[in-house]
Amino acid sequence: LKVQVSQIDIPCSFGPAYEGERVRGKDLHSQMGGGKTQCTELVKMADMKEIEDGKVEVVGKDIPDLGEGDTLPLGIYVQIAGREFQADFEPILERQIHHLINYIQGVMHIGQRDISWIRVSKAAVEKGFTLKDIGVVLHAKMHQDFGKVLDKIQVTLYTKKDDVKKMTERARAEYKQRDERVENMKDEDVETYYSCTLCQSFAPNHVCSVSPERTGLCGAYNWMDCKASYEINPTGPNQPIKKGEVIDPRLGQWKGVNEFVKQASRGAVEGYNFYSIVYDPMTTCGCCECIAAVLPTCNGVMTVNREYTGDTPCGMKFTTLAGVMGGGAKSPGFVGHSKFNITQRKFIRGDGPPDMDEGGLLRIVWMPKMLKEEIKDRIDSRAKELGVPDFYDKIADETVGTTEEEVMEFLKEKDHPALKLESVVG
Ligand code: SF4
Ligand code: ZN
Repeated sequence: LKVQVSQIDIPCSFGPAYEGERVRGKDLHSQMGGGKTQCTELVKMADMKEIEDGKVEVVGKDIPDLGEGDTLPLGIYVQIAGREFQADFEPILERQIHHLINYIQGVMHIGQRDISWIRVSKAAVEKGFTLKDIGVVLHAKMHQDFGKVLDKIQVTLYTKKDDVKKMTERARAEYKQRDERVENMKDEDVETYYSCTLCQSFAPNHVCSVSPERTGLCGAYNWMDCKASYEINPTGPNQPIKKGEVIDPRLGQWKGVNEFVKQASRGAVEGYNFYSIVYDPMTTCGCCECIAAVLPTCNGVMTVNREYTGDTPCGMKFTTLAGVMGGGAKSPGFVGHSKFNITQRKFIRGDGPPDMDEGGLLRIVWMPKMLKEEIKDRIDSRAKELGVPDFYDKIADETVGTTEEEVMEFLKEKDHPALKLESVVG
């Protein structure tokens, strides 16, 4: 017997109508994540006997324990069991957390994975909202929307620093495993890519195209995930796209993709390139993990991650960049992408050395130190493949400077390969 949950028992109004709503400074009661504290999400498959359907537990403080302006670490741990459930579905269910929390009136959710950010408004708290309601919502809506593949959902909300830390470490190992599932796949090997239009509620014309070598810009969906999502929900936000005729193999443009994007963006976007930041880059929505920008003086490209709040050599902070280009319009010279994508072989290869098929990474001249360190192992192994084993040390970061002039000095000193390339702006 399938559990039917028709009503969502929380004190706030709930529905897609509240999805685009912001919680601004003067309305803010408290927040989790967003660089102030850790906020992490993880969906894991469980054994049928191991969990209790509908059980929601908050371990640690909850909203009533907080005062105005307070912050709290948060780990949202969702366990799912079902005869039809597969571990492959975990990322798909996990990505639902974003819009489902946004459906709660007066509560805002940004980001995903271990960079989530929840802002709770005074109005929601006045109505009686607590973190437990997040669990209630996830339980009810996941049953409603994915009842076909799951039978039981249990949600635990950790708010003690140590618990959140432990859960985050575990989650990062899971994310890594998921990311690496597409590691050895090539875009040439498949005839079908997938679309993702999950973010159209925020960026109405935005269509992500996800290929094995270009994971979704939020970092939460790769080609495998989109494929699994389509299998669960054939009329859902992830549709197969027949690549069709190749228009430009180096920049990554296909007739079938363009046609799909044009129709799914309601004519707003005529098509785009998968592997270029300069020429017709893919469109970007507000969820991207990183935003890359061309630095013309340095003849290279910088990229900045969401968690880095400082200045960057392109003159804009992450939030400003996201505001400018997060609406789903094409902005040549800028492109949103996932962290993992930086070290995928086709990353901006169209802007890389012309004699190299997959050398886009060599255009990267600046990255925040935290991002560089996070992906160091992967940069090192790609750099070795590209014949520049010490490339990591040639990438500038904020300790070198946050102006193009400062970066340029460093690049010259380090003999960065981008300086020998043809002009980045063509
Ligand atoms: Fe899908 Fe792209 Fe949004 Fe990620 S950013 S959920 S891939 S539309
Ligand atoms: Zn988005």
